[in-house]
Amino acid sequence: MSRSTEPSEVEMNAILPAEPARDDVLGARPTLWLNPRYRKQAIVSPNLPISTADVDQARTNWHRLAPLLAKCFPELESSEGAIRSELVELKELRKALGYDGREFGNVFIKADSHLPVAGSIKARGGVYEVFLFAETLARENGLLADGDDIRKLATDEVRMFFSKYTIAVGSTGNLGLSVGIAARSLGFHATVHMSSDAKGWKVERLRKLGVEVIQHEADYTIAVENAREIADADPTIYFVDDEQSKHLFLGYSAAASELETQLTERRITVDADSPLFLYLPCGIGGAPGGVAFGAKAIFGDNVHAFFVEPVQSPCALVHMMSGSQELVSVYDVGLTNKTEADGMAVARMSAFVATVMREMLAGVFTVADDELLRLVQTAWTHQGQRLEPSAAAALAGPNFLVCHKEGKRFQDEQGLRDKMAKGTHVLWTTGGSYVPEEQFQAFLRQAAAIA
Ligand SMILES: *Cc1c(COP(=O)(O)O)cnc(C)c1O
Repeated sequence: MSRSTEPSEVEMNAILPAEPARDDVLGARPTLWLNPRYRKQAIVSPNLPISTADVDQARTNWHRLAPLLAKCFPELESSEGAIRSELVELKELRKALGYDGREFGNVFIKADSHLPVAGSIKARGGVYEVFLFAETLARENGLLADGDDIRKLATDEVRMFFSKYTIAVGSTGNLGLSVGIAARSLGFHATVHMSSDAKGWKVERLRKLGVEVIQHEADYTIAVENAREIADADPTIYFVDDEQSKHLFLGYSAAASELETQLTERRITVDADSPLFLYLPCGIGGAPGGVAFGAKAIFGDNVHAFFVEPVQSPCALVHMMSGSQELVSVYDVGLTNKTEADGMAVARMSAFVATVMREMLAGVFTVADDELLRLVQTAWTHQGQRLEPSAAAALAGPNFLVCHKEGKRFQDEQGLRDKMAKGTHVLWTTGGSYVPEEQFQAFLRQAAAIA
């Protein structure tokens, strides 16, 4: 929906149905929204634009690209080219967050904040799409044949060829970092269209890598539109389209099998009596949607995926709650899209992700900026985890599910009340290790000022 004037209160109320979370959403207060369309077995629906076979294919692709990744990024040598994060058990932090009761079951952090190559969950999406594109381009141009060593793509000859192409992307910051780093590592030219809320240090870091950064005075959706238009007009530009890309989505989806392995290593069971809960910070929806989809492919109805969004930017929440066919933005319901959590400052979710998640997403909870900063500080003080505000949002998840009245309703409706003690919560902390010391100290100072 697009509009030229501010929506009136009557209009806003008409957009969102009278569900328990509505007043809190419109009032920008933290809340939990349960998806009324959530249903079992949604992943086997024949109407979905992607399937579980696509997730398997993505894993195969990652595996095939691994030797090339190890060659391009020395930090990946020890993992033989795999881009993996740790599953971290909460220690002191568990108590600090108030999750020490039995009813909280097992609680882990999935530390994508420390992913190699890009320092955020975007290493799973952006790097994947760029490397896959490079492989396809090389094959189409006779530079890579079946049976060739994939590392051929890192030779001077092929890099010279890649340098004639540009990889473009629109970004609030982290996707630009990941795509820019990946593109430059293979010799591509790279252009990143940044939204007005992108942090200065992300811009600086990209320029140092030789990435062309175009700063827009507009929000993320507009930055993406501009980038797409420029790319469409030029065949030497490949556009990583965060609003529509299946590659990004599937790159993220492969994270679920990594989680499965890590849970198995720790002898954590996921079955009908031992549910798994995922809390996934959401911007446009690709990263959390991809991970949720991958997890559904593995754990089926025993996993419940929740997105988390800032109170002023709950784009997935408002769109999915509206039930509308046409995309609803946070502006349509009178919210500002202003947040310190730059990775989540997105006013309008991806239509592709909305379609896929329609019946697969358990719900969305929202967090205020003050709380995000407090969580950044808590994670640092009690667990030494360096998170950016977007990433810290995940930490609030178990509190909503276990203590909020809508969380209790969810437990009842899903028959989970007596299974919570055997449940496992995975808080997906999506970024932070690349945040410069100065900026991180500023977060801590802000948090202290609030306290
Ligand atoms: C990009 C990002 C997200 C959200 O991912 P989307 O694909 O935009 O939904 C969450 N946290 C961080 C730190 C990010 O960089």
